[in-house]
Amino acid sequence: MILLAKPHTHAAPEKLLDALETRGYRPCRLATSEGPLFTVLDFSAALLADLPGEAGSYALLEPREPYVLAGKSLKDTPTEIDVRGTARIGGQGFAVIAGPCSVESPGQIEACAAAVKKAGAAFLRGGAYKPRTSPYAFQGRGKEGLRWLKEAGDRHGLPVVTEVLDQDDLGAVTEYADILQVGARNCQNYALLKKLGKIRKPVLLKRGMMVTIDEFLLSAEYVLAGGNMEVVLCERGIRTFEPGTRNTLDISAVPQLKLKTHLPVVVDPSHAAGSWRLVEPLALAAAAAGADGLMVEVHPCPENALSDGEQSLKPERFASLMDKLARLLPITGRTMGGTAGVSPAV
Ligand code: PEP
Ligand code: MN
Repeated sequence: MILLAKPHTHAAPEKLLDALETRGYRPCRLATSEGPLFTVLDFSAALLADLPGEAGSYALLEPREPYVLAGKSLKDTPTEIDVRGTARIGGQGFAVIAGPCSVESPGQIEACAAAVKKAGAAFLRGGAYKPRTSPYAFQGRGKEGLRWLKEAGDRHGLPVVTEVLDQDDLGAVTEYADILQVGARNCQNYALLKKLGKIRKPVLLKRGMMVTIDEFLLSAEYVLAGGNMEVVLCERGIRTFEPGTRNTLDISAVPQLKLKTHLPVVVDPSHAAGSWRLVEPLALAAAAAGADGLMVEVHPCPENALSDGEQSLKPERFASLMDKLARLLPITGRTMGGTAGVSPAV
């Protein structure tokens, strides 16, 4: 079970923390709308009596929903994730994460970074460890790719988002990434999610192709329950009977998730569509539906891309999408944002 302990008094949090730690638990301190809250996983109800010293200084809460921490019963204000003090996801701003499917070469990622920055993106994306359907397809540049991505991001003041495919790569990805992406195929890799609960960097969790909204929130819960409250949810299309698109973008997931969770929700129209021609309308639909941002694949020369070229936007099409988004967003009560003090080039 999960123990949720809510201190009543100012001094109580530290006392409770001590009491839990001296009894061998590893409590996580979480900021909620009602002040600090401690969670202890794998807490046995029989051990409750073992915490008598601080009785009266805290309340033990009964979880009211399956996703206790991702849900809104303990925290109903939107979570805003600040990255390096220069970029944000969540809140009033609309954050665009853009870049190639894969980091291919220093020149390719530099061209992408320059283009997406000029158009007003807040984050640079690019995979160095790629989950490919075929073992013979390009698998990514690995650690070298992480370094090229970070160097390009730094040159243009863009924090970087990149996928962690395997627990073995967690150290390297954590070192270079500002936000660690968990791909659709790993959405229910609970061992990996538990590890991500222990790191101190935000996680962008993509919805699995066959994962329901409640299952998606429970996957996020694994990260939160480990003590990492910085999770961004990403709807990227689910598998349906429709072969006309690579996946079916579940646009209704955006308002549904917004009703159920305080976590930011972004949409990836590129992997949903599978075709660059559909990316712009789906991106605009996502913004209209209330998403906190987008993840869009952009490549300087999509015909030569080593992965997902057919769904990648050329820089000029991306710039045109950003322009349309900036005009649409005010209707939704948001403005193009995600970066501190940077507005899109016109
Ligand atoms: C990606 O973002 O490059 C990717 C592989 O996405 P997904 O996990 O959504 O397929
Ligand atoms: Mn891709």
